[in-house]
Amino acid sequence: VLLPIGIGAAGVLAFVVAQLVRINGALPAALRVALKRGEFFLVYQPIVDLRTKEWVGAEALLRWRKSTGEFVSPDVFIPVAERNRLIERITQRVLELVASDAADLLRKRPDFHVAVNLSAQDICNPDICARLRAITTAMGINNQCIHIEATERVFLHAEQARKSVEALRAQGHLVAIDDFGTGYSSLSYLTEFTMDSLKIDKCFVGTIGQHAVTSHVIGHIIEMAKSLELKMIAEGIETEEQAEYLRAHGVQFGQGWLFSKPMPMHELVEQLASRRSPERPVGS
Ligand code: C2E
Ligand code: MG
Ligand code: MG
Ligand code: MG
Repeated sequence: VLLPIGIGAAGVLAFVVAQLVRINGALPAALRVALKRGEFFLVYQPIVDLRTKEWVGAEALLRWRKSTGEFVSPDVFIPVAERNRLIERITQRVLELVASDAADLLRKRPDFHVAVNLSAQDICNPDICARLRAITTAMGINNQCIHIEATERVFLHAEQARKSVEALRAQGHLVAIDDFGTGYSSLSYLTEFTMDSLKIDKCFVGTIGQHAVTSHVIGHIIEMAKSLELKMIAEGIETEEQAEYLRAHGVQFGQGWLFSKPMPMHELVEQLASRRSPERPVGS
């Protein structure tokens, strides 16, 4: 009885090892090359006030285009970078890209913000505040113009994370919990950490208007965020029905293809300029 299980397990193990070698072998090397060759760039997705439809900020999302022209999704390469100690260098590159892309816009529009995704390892890096300060100083902007998004995984490293999040907030950055409800940390962190906002993951937004059982969950997430006095940003809004449900339930902000896909900074600047109403010219 044990033998077939043994062979089966060995087969599975061989497969897993082969996958790990493939992922951990080729990709980290390619990521190092990509950093050297400058194959990374950022696109920006507007964050919208759900009541006024005004664009209040934008999330910076990393893109990797290989020299072959092939795109690799951050959902693929960020976890690899995290496992191979490359995330610190990638995050540094992200911060430098934000600085060169967004300095002009944020100097002219101090009411606007750019949200940057940080990995758990970045948040727990004791230098993170100084690195962000160096960037905002070089840009000539307030720290308030750079928001931080951290996934729930950060809270697995409770003590270091608590200190870092406190320091980031003390420095003026708003900190959001990203992909809320999809991680594997216990909810106790919600009472142990002070955060500013919670991003409702698109997997919950996608349940709006579906069968009652699944769509109940998002209602409870919204109620919980309200009772914790956290602002909410809903991700992945694709339909008017979803936007209306979220607005009606008191979710302040949203982003998604209904409003806009991510775009290069020059396009964001053009769109922001054309969205300004004549009664509110730039600088007023
Ligand atoms: P995230 O931070 O939760 O970002 C939201 C993702 O949802 C983005 O995917 C965005 O393009 C996508 N999205 C936005 N609106 C819609 C919509 O209406 N429908 C659908 N189907 N998708 C929508 P993206 O750009 O592929 O990024 C995936 C993840 O990679 C991000 O999830 C984030 O966790 C990570 N990531 C991206 N850029 C960075 C970065 O600079 N640093 C780090 N550490 N992680 C990053
Ligand atoms: Mg994010
Ligand atoms: Mg998210
Ligand atoms: Mg997400």
